[in-house]
Amino acid sequence: LEEPIEPPKLSESGRAAAEIRVTTKRQKNSSSEWTPSSWTAKPIKQEVVYDDLAAVKKALAKLERLPPIVTPTEIVKLRKSLRDVALGKAFLLQGGDCAELFDYCEETAIESKIKLLLQMSLVLIWGANKPVVRIARMAGQYAKPRSSPTEMNEGKEIPSFRGDILNGYAVEDRTPDPARLVSAYHHSAATLNFIRGSLASGIADLHSPLDWELGHVKDEKIRAQYTRIVDSITESLRFMRTVGADSSASGLETVDLYTSHEGLLLEYEQSLTRKLKHPPSHPSFVPARIPSDQQVNGHQESVSDGRGWYNTSAHFLWIGDRTRQLTGAHVEYFRGLENPIGIKVGPTMTSPELIALLDVVNPSKDIGKITLITRYGEHKIASLLAGHIEAVKGSGHVVVWQCDPMHGNTKSTPSGVKTRQFSSILSEVSSALKIHREQGSFLGGVHLELTGEAVTECVGGSEGLTEGDLGVNYTTYCDPRLNEKQALELAFLVAGHYRD
Ligand code: PEP
Ligand code: MN
Repeated sequence: LEEPIEPPKLSESGRAAAEIRVTTKRQKNSSSEWTPSSWTAKPIKQEVVYDDLAAVKKALAKLERLPPIVTPTEIVKLRKSLRDVALGKAFLLQGGDCAELFDYCEETAIESKIKLLLQMSLVLIWGANKPVVRIARMAGQYAKPRSSPTEMNEGKEIPSFRGDILNGYAVEDRTPDPARLVSAYHHSAATLNFIRGSLASGIADLHSPLDWELGHVKDEKIRAQYTRIVDSITESLRFMRTVGADSSASGLETVDLYTSHEGLLLEYEQSLTRKLKHPPSHPSFVPARIPSDQQVNGHQESVSDGRGWYNTSAHFLWIGDRTRQLTGAHVEYFRGLENPIGIKVGPTMTSPELIALLDVVNPSKDIGKITLITRYGEHKIASLLAGHIEAVKGSGHVVVWQCDPMHGNTKSTPSGVKTRQFSSILSEVSSALKIHREQGSFLGGVHLELTGEAVTECVGGSEGLTEGDLGVNYTTYCDPRLNEKQALELAFLVAGHYRD
């Protein structure tokens, strides 16, 4: 059930993180007390070893002073929306780059991703006939877990690229640099600032015409099918305008778009974890005039002080498939957060382990607090998903079931280029939809690696990209992403499944 117990190994940078958190209550002997730094006493995977600990301390101290990037009000709003997803009343679309680079913090790249997510969400609303909750894998997706800490480069062993928050892709930049921690904050903040500004200025305003260019779809039958969907969406919007349902109070001018990333670099996450007042929409909200400690029957009884620990670096964070050990540092850190969180569920996850994890990160069984992001692979899903659904049902937890059809379907071409087949991606989503239906459950959403640009990283789809085309515009620094046409096509096909 559990990983073999490794002797607790304090990560060096974790120790620095623990030391600088002077304001945090010291851990009592009880190992169950959570603090933002209690993870530092647990064994950690994907550890980072910095040469200059003084520089790490300085960076973390700076991060601790900087203001939240997102707020409890927004986080709790998302948590409420995810509750709706868990109950089958909404659908969750999450997508963005595998590894977001600091260089992607730029007008066109951000804008094209927002537009793509919006278009996909319209198609999914049309298909599933439910509101769509949108979470971008953006404004902070800078840390990457790696299967090996090193790689070969021109006959020499060099450290692997682990994301811009840690080291650089250029061979000469592979040493972890603590200054990148602060830079990650600034790039997240600048990206989210532009997202917020664009939304407030009408990028998602449904009164403006959308570009649904479908010329690349060569197959007449498929093009006719997609055109029908676009016509139906356009017609619905026209109808709403005609009957005046698009008045300024209708919400057609903008949408909510939340941010997310893998919570991998715990030093960074800890520094942005703040004890903040619950907003009134939080179930444990306490009006300000109730004192935090009350004399009840002569005993000092502690009541909630109306505050909780919020990770203010993103609305939603997830634990990766490589760092989800029950007794490890990442699970320890995540269990204390108010944010809705995700857990990647790969083929090696056993049902008892899954339930034990849910009990640790969500002991009160809050509906929709946890999103299980399943990523088995197109051939493995049939033998694994049903068992997991059954186990979760039996445990009394109500989760969001999200399908990540990307990470179980990565292949290398004979020349060693990482790619994914569009048909494999679609096949895993289709299987997820079918298996959930058979189990009396439902698929709550999808988790995709995509970009708004015309990259050639995944093969297949209506454009007919082949392995020979991969060299044309292969720009990912980690996993291959769906390009804008493939991503939209996937949305059409998923929507079609609901309408069939
Ligand atoms: C990812 O989402 O980019 C990732 C590394 O996924 P996983 O943890 O599922 O392998
Ligand atoms: Mn990835």
